[in-house]
Amino acid sequence: MERVAGTVCAYCGVGCKFDVVKGQLKGRKGYPANNGAACAKGLSQPESITARRWTNPQVRHAGQWRRTNYAEAIAQIAEAIQVTDPKRVGFYLSGQMLNEDYYVANKLAKGFIGTPNCDTNSRTCMASAVVGYKRAFGVDYVPVRMEDIEQAEVLILIGANPSEAHVVLSRRIKRAQKQGLKVLVIDPRETETAQMADHHITIRPGGDIDLLNALAKRLIETDRIDADFVRDHAEGFEAYRDALSGMDEEALIRAADVSMEDFEMLAALWHDHARIITAWTMGINQSAQGTDANNAIINLHILTGQIGRPGSGPFSLTGQPNAMGGREVGGLSTTLAVHRDYDEESRRIVGEFWASDRIPKEGGLTAFEMIEQAHVGGLDVLIVCHTDPVYHLPNRHFVEEAFKKIPLVVEINAYTGSETSTFAHIRLPAKAFGEKEGTQTNLDRTVTRVEAFAQNDARLQDWEIFAMLGRALGHEEAFDYADTRAVFEEYQAMTRLSPKGHLDLYRADYDSLKSEPYVWGEGLLEAGHFLTKSGRAQLIVIDNKNHSEQPSSAYPFVLLTGRTRDQWHSGSKTAHLPKLLRHKPLQFVEIHRDDAQTYDLNEGDWITIRSQWGQIKAPVRFASIRRGTLFVPISHREINYLTPPTIDPLSKEPDYNHTAVAISPC
Ligand code: SF4
Repeated sequence: MERVAGTVCAYCGVGCKFDVVKGQLKGRKGYPANNGAACAKGLSQPESITARRWTNPQVRHAGQWRRTNYAEAIAQIAEAIQVTDPKRVGFYLSGQMLNEDYYVANKLAKGFIGTPNCDTNSRTCMASAVVGYKRAFGVDYVPVRMEDIEQAEVLILIGANPSEAHVVLSRRIKRAQKQGLKVLVIDPRETETAQMADHHITIRPGGDIDLLNALAKRLIETDRIDADFVRDHAEGFEAYRDALSGMDEEALIRAADVSMEDFEMLAALWHDHARIITAWTMGINQSAQGTDANNAIINLHILTGQIGRPGSGPFSLTGQPNAMGGREVGGLSTTLAVHRDYDEESRRIVGEFWASDRIPKEGGLTAFEMIEQAHVGGLDVLIVCHTDPVYHLPNRHFVEEAFKKIPLVVEINAYTGSETSTFAHIRLPAKAFGEKEGTQTNLDRTVTRVEAFAQNDARLQDWEIFAMLGRALGHEEAFDYADTRAVFEEYQAMTRLSPKGHLDLYRADYDSLKSEPYVWGEGLLEAGHFLTKSGRAQLIVIDNKNHSEQPSSAYPFVLLTGRTRDQWHSGSKTAHLPKLLRHKPLQFVEIHRDDAQTYDLNEGDWITIRSQWGQIKAPVRFASIRRGTLFVPISHREINYLTPPTIDPLSKEPDYNHTAVAISPC
């Protein structure tokens, strides 16, 4: 079989590797992430390459779009940046970008324009995991690999639905189940993942911290912790134990709305097994207390010493294909570069590496904060790359008002049809999946080479656009790259500056990455050495402050949101492919049959869903979901007219999963 090129899926964090054979994708056999497997969404990508593409750079004048070229458009952007304060410039990047694209954008923003306001849409999905890991381990490090699933005895999925969001991973879980893995799902919905599990615990949305605290309390009080690990490698145990002893177990279980039988079963699993993985996604992260919920999970693994040991650990499942890469490079505004923060030493060595004296003194605005700044007229330029903040940020009416106040919105995108493009003043077409090359990091730190297999010389790759802008701003030498390899090698050299060199991508080889992936940071925590100041893992006292919206008589339901299997976010690539519409429609609202009966609703009836922030319409589907809870998929493009502006105070991640809503027939 002729192998033309190898590439990586541009849809989810599993990072399935493909061979490209006669323009079709085939899962690569023997590859650690997928071993030949792929899902329908991933395999559909070649059909998207030519459809709905931006063709030429465009500039809007007096409401009319005029065709232009890259040089003219970029000169206009450079001029707008040069006449304003760097703090009034924002970069809004995306987990769809490759490492090299991310690297150049981050270098330009933080290193040369001097704005720390360079954030990524990973803020809206993974920021709570980043902050949770950093608080506990002193480093943003996922200490579990997918292959650990085959070595685990128990997999607990909390607020995660891999059957729809990480399809190839869910098949791997099913295979492990046949070999004896016990799978337990904790979720307010009976998701497809819950249906395949050995046990499903329904829980009140927002009750996770209560349940996790009750478990920790039980483990301590029944002496089922790893006392040696806690003594030798953890910090904060006494305060943590004392805080838990002041909590009432029954009250916690009641607050989580979990049955006592379910709680006892869960506690017994932790009593009886030494190899447990707890995995989670947006049901935990996208919350006003997302960081706390992350640490409540990590606390359990520190208590039981289940970190850095095969078949165990706290496993945050990254949603986007290269959200991990963005975190590593420095795509979050709260990180400077290569896992370095804005402390004096980091600013000095990063400044020396880039030969720049413009490194910002402190972290910048996060995704939603940039929009808040725009709303008060505080942002002059916003560059949005391969993402759609008008669609995905919460409280959409507010977001739209904010976008109208930004004098220059630049959209870099491969595809037409984003909700943000309506608000753009300059649109720059970019290379798409299949046309780009570089590297991408999946959810378990595996870095893979992406090779181009479709020609498109008319459009530039993201990093080329950012480098062109850097040169237009007068930084010729800093942004003079011969090719993607040159960018990768500069980034690689910079990873030596990561704290203690833990981000050891500098050991990889660009050519070898075509056939062999590189997993950075292998074994980092195995010896129980953490990157905190004391070298110990931190046990953190967490209590449930219930900061999210609570249901009331005016808004009696809690709205959950999430992915469906065959759609990717707003569906600009997937929603026009008929075969991907067969699984589930784009718009629907799941409701418990008894709740539907109360409102005299039948399946298929359209209802209005209202929150205090806005309203949308959707057709009813009966589902096995906790009473008083609704679910609307994020493929409903108007979903964020409903969601609140609440963000986690630590991670600044929006609270997409606890909106109080009311319903009425249309
Ligand atoms: Fe792509 Fe994820 Fe499907 Fe794999 S499981 S093919 S990475 S969408």
